[in-house]
Amino acid sequence: MADTETQREAVLAAVDNVARRIAEEKTYLTELDSAIGDADHGANMDRGFRAVKEKTAEMDDADVSDVVKTVGMTIISEVGGASGPLYGGSIMSASATLSEGITAETSVAFAEAYLEKVRERGKAEVGAKTMVDALTPAVHTYKKSIEQDDLPPLSALAKAVDACERGVRFTTPIKARKGRASYLDWRSVGHQDPGATSTLFIMEELLATAEEHLEGEVEVDAESPEEPEEEPTPEDD
Ligand code: ADP
Ligand code: MG
Repeated sequence: MADTETQREAVLAAVDNVARRIAEEKTYLTELDSAIGDADHGANMDRGFRAVKEKTAEMDDADVSDVVKTVGMTIISEVGGASGPLYGGSIMSASATLSEGITAETSVAFAEAYLEKVRERGKAEVGAKTMVDALTPAVHTYKKSIEQDDLPPLSALAKAVDACERGVRFTTPIKARKGRASYLDWRSVGHQDPGATSTLFIMEELLATAEEHLEGEVEVDAESPEEPEEEPTPEDD
């Protein structure tokens, strides 16, 4: 495992990448939310991640779980709406899984704890047209890729992003049963969910950050003697 400073740098780089991406996608997220909500999701998220960037930039010698906890707390206080407590509260509470730093194992624990909290707070099942539809397949795919398929974390994360993307597409043809969009009933059909979409953007940036920061780590994990028997070596695409 990389030392605390390297890990903190990776987390801060992830914050920067996510904040930049959300700013770039602000208008698009707001467009999605204007079709089935109140047209504030882009602005909510952008305001939140700007504040997150400012807060975490000062955390020179904190460990990663404290940085991640601050990310969550800042989102709770800045984002508002339905998505603020869902994103922020869940990140904050899942940050405890990273107290020993980020490893393949603790990253799975983080992902699972995060999903569990989102579900607990929002009470949305898969198929209700929310961020849960993107998050659930992503987290399940990540866990399975690491624990059963023995893939290196970077490959597992790439698969999770693919699963997340399919989850986002799945939100379009279905009817909203939770959140503001549910007020529209059948008129929500045919529109992609904003929160599922922002979840995908965040995951894509986590992957991009991991690609930049994790090369050494992946090689260590790839040396595992427990190569899956029938699977060829993970493809490069
Ligand atoms: P608001 O709906 O309060 O305006 P946002 O526009 O910021 O908040 O966020 C809307 C997104 O929040 C939705 O697209 C959906 O993905 C997510 N969401 C809303 N309610 C729930 C819920 N109960 N469970 C999970 N996600 C939800
Ligand atoms: Mg909204």
